[in-house]
Amino acid sequence: MQEPADADARRAIAPVICYPNDTLPVPDLALYRRAMQSAEKVSEVLVPAREAACFRVAAGQIFRISSVEGPQVGDLNLWNAHDLSERFYSGKSRALHGTHLTTGERMWSSFPHLRPMATIIEDSLGWYGMDAYGGSVHDVIGTRCDPYTGNLLAGSQYHHCCHSNLIRALADETGMSLAEAEPHVHDVLNVFMCTGFTRDTGQYFMKASPVRPGDHLDFFAEIDLLGALSACPGGDCSSEHSSDTAACHPLLVEVFAPAEGVLDGWNSPPVNGYDRSHGR
Ligand SMILES: [Zn+2]
Repeated sequence: MQEPADADARRAIAPVICYPNDTLPVPDLALYRRAMQSAEKVSEVLVPAREAACFRVAAGQIFRISSVEGPQVGDLNLWNAHDLSERFYSGKSRALHGTHLTTGERMWSSFPHLRPMATIIEDSLGWYGMDAYGGSVHDVIGTRCDPYTGNLLAGSQYHHCCHSNLIRALADETGMSLAEAEPHVHDVLNVFMCTGFTRDTGQYFMKASPVRPGDHLDFFAEIDLLGALSACPGGDCSSEHSSDTAACHPLLVEVFAPAEGVLDGWNSPPVNGYDRSHGR
C-alpha cells in the first residue's frame, strides 16, 4: 500500500483527550474515608476459587475486596439493587478515567442513568502505576473470560469462566434461571488484574498480578448495589485462563456500615440530567 506524501505529518498530529474529566463531579474522598474509619463490618462473603458470589451493599456503605491465601484476580459486576437494567458501564468508565481505575475514580452506570455507582476510596496497589510494558492494575479494557471465546479459539467446553461463574451466582441470588440471568452479566472491572496493550501490535496482554494476600480495594457505594465477584480461573493471570490449569485462590468481600451521622448531608447521586428527548 502506498503511503500519502503527507503520511508523517498526519501521524505527527498531537492527540486530544476525548473526555477531559476536569469537570466531572469530584468525590468527597475525605468524607468517604471518615465514613470508613467509623465503620463496622456488617457482612462478608468468601468467593471460592473458580466460582463467583453475590453481595449487597446499601448506599453509603463501603465494600472491600481483599486478596487472601495467594495472588488472585477478580471479575466484578455491579447492578442497581432495585433495577438490574442499571449496571456498570465498563466502556464509559474507561473513556472517562482511562484504561485502569484507582483511588478517586468511579464505576459509572449504563445509559440512561450514567451516574457513579461506586467510588474507589483506597487501593493498596496504587503504588504500581504504569510499568515498562504499559501494564497497570484494575483494568476496564478486558471483558470477562467466557466459554464462547474459548470455544471459538480452541473448541473447548469450559464451565468456570468468569462469565459462567457470574451467571450462576446471579441466578442463585435472584431465583432467575441461567438463561434469564445471562443477559444481565456485563463487562467487568478486572480487580487486581495487570493488563495493557502491546505497543507493536496493540494486543490485549496480561501478566502476573502484583497482588499479594492483604492487598485490597475499597469502594464507597453511591447507590444500593447488588454485586457479583468471580475468582477468575486465570488465578494471578500469569499464564492462562479458561481452564483449571492455573493456581487459584479465594477472594474476600467485606461490607462495612459507617457510624450514625457520619454521612449527614450526603445523598446518593441523581440519575443523569439529559432530558432523553433525543431531538424529537
Ligand atoms: Zn476470568
